[in-house]
Amino acid sequence: FRHHRRGTGPDRAFDFDLFVIGGGAGGVRCARVAAGHGARVGVAEERFWGGTCVNIGCVPKKLLVMAAEYGAALDDARGFGWAVQRGAHDWAALIAAKDREIARLNGIYRRMLEGAGVAIFDARATFRDAHTLQVGERRITAERIVIATGGQPTRPTYPGAELAVVSDDIFHLPALPHRVVLHGSGYIAVEFAGILAGLGAEVDLVYRQPLPLRGFDADLRAALAEALTADGVRLHPERNITAIAASGDAPGAVRRVTLTDGTVLEADLVFAATGRHPNVAGLGLEAVGVQTNAKGAIVTGEGAETSVPGLYAIGDVTDRLNLTPVALAEGHSLAESLFGAGPRAWDLDRVATAVFSSPPIATVGLTEEQAAARGPADIYVSRFRPMRHALTGRERRTLMKLVVDQKTQRVLGAHMLGEDAPEIIQGLSVAINCGATKADFDRTVGIHPTSAEEFVTMRTRTRSVGGGQG
Ligand code: NDP
Repeated sequence: FRHHRRGTGPDRAFDFDLFVIGGGAGGVRCARVAAGHGARVGVAEERFWGGTCVNIGCVPKKLLVMAAEYGAALDDARGFGWAVQRGAHDWAALIAAKDREIARLNGIYRRMLEGAGVAIFDARATFRDAHTLQVGERRITAERIVIATGGQPTRPTYPGAELAVVSDDIFHLPALPHRVVLHGSGYIAVEFAGILAGLGAEVDLVYRQPLPLRGFDADLRAALAEALTADGVRLHPERNITAIAASGDAPGAVRRVTLTDGTVLEADLVFAATGRHPNVAGLGLEAVGVQTNAKGAIVTGEGAETSVPGLYAIGDVTDRLNLTPVALAEGHSLAESLFGAGPRAWDLDRVATAVFSSPPIATVGLTEEQAAARGPADIYVSRFRPMRHALTGRERRTLMKLVVDQKTQRVLGAHMLGEDAPEIIQGLSVAINCGATKADFDRTVGIHPTSAEEFVTMRTRTRSVGGGQG
């Protein structure tokens, strides 16, 4: 590493001022910002630059969501006078186009790091001691080390579970499966239900809760279950998978999936989307005594520092809010606090999030249930058929909801299921992070005709909850 020779000053006793393990969103941001402040920085990545989000997560997923939306748009266009037929979908062409885009983004990530003067190592890093790493064939020392190794899908353990694929595999299937059993009802299961059904597969969604997306607002969850059903996804709530068997050894053999109620579903593909876990195996954390919790997540305190001084952890490996923008914020804040102007402030309670289901969901702040547990809240709910579907005839409803603190009239949460929900809630999340009240929403003049204007025209309270008024 040409630019990083050991110097003579006391801080030059190490090869690097900062070494980052993991070239995903959080690690790359942290490395770039630190290098921008003049620190001598290295990053090791053994698999792919950009991490889960760019390669086998958010980015390719969103491209697949768009592909599915084009199918529905072709059908819908007929309602507007277009004489179009859907035709066949070419899965291989979609995957090849997606792969070209991902390769382009990988290159950008790499060049960004090189441009910032960061030393790049295409290798696995493991701890030797708190300041020494084995990086591929080399021993490297660093004054501070950041663990940004992310997470990976958790593979189920019931009999025949090895016959199921996980999200890592789904982006490179040779062909679109005809029948899919999807297991789970978190972000990934719900998003892929929309993608696979939208591209023409028959989808069975098996999940153990009464409604999908545990943790989200109950009205959104109910609206999502309706939307999935309207799109032809068969829901199997309050059930689990007990076993998978294949009807022979051929790679395309039919899978027989047994559920807890005895139902047997037949499928060409079983997709387990039952959560992710921190990527800590084989890092050598035991060698340095970094504290982890029961799930293997690295425990961090103030300023992302682990139980070992000088060692930090950011992003999914800490298993708090496993979202790319959170990892970016943590990586940026850490680099600023170590080498720049000090930590950047942001509020974990008001991080907006989106589920790219069909239609999408987006949410910021408290759910009705969370607000009611804290005190009296006013709830405003609006459900309507979006203008577009007056002509398409498609059975689609949009749901919008505001959760307002009854005493202060501050808007505590905004929730939406419907077209463009992520784009709309991103804007509203600024207002909510600023502490906007319902009166602020009311005095905002809408943009007509849009769906989003409904958020500033919800005049009549739907109900009051919490504080004994529920
Ligand atoms: P989630 O944690 O969101 O959901 C896991 C799902 O699997 C839940 O429905 C859960 O059920 C179920 N589950 C877990 N264990 C079992 C089990 N033993 N038997 C049956 N069901 C089980 O995980 P995902 O894999 O969907 O996604 C991982 C994370 O990645 C997300 O939490 C999110 O942080 C991030 N992500 C974000 C996206 C975005 O921002 N759009 C997109 C994709 C992922 P239950 O609810 O009952 O626990």
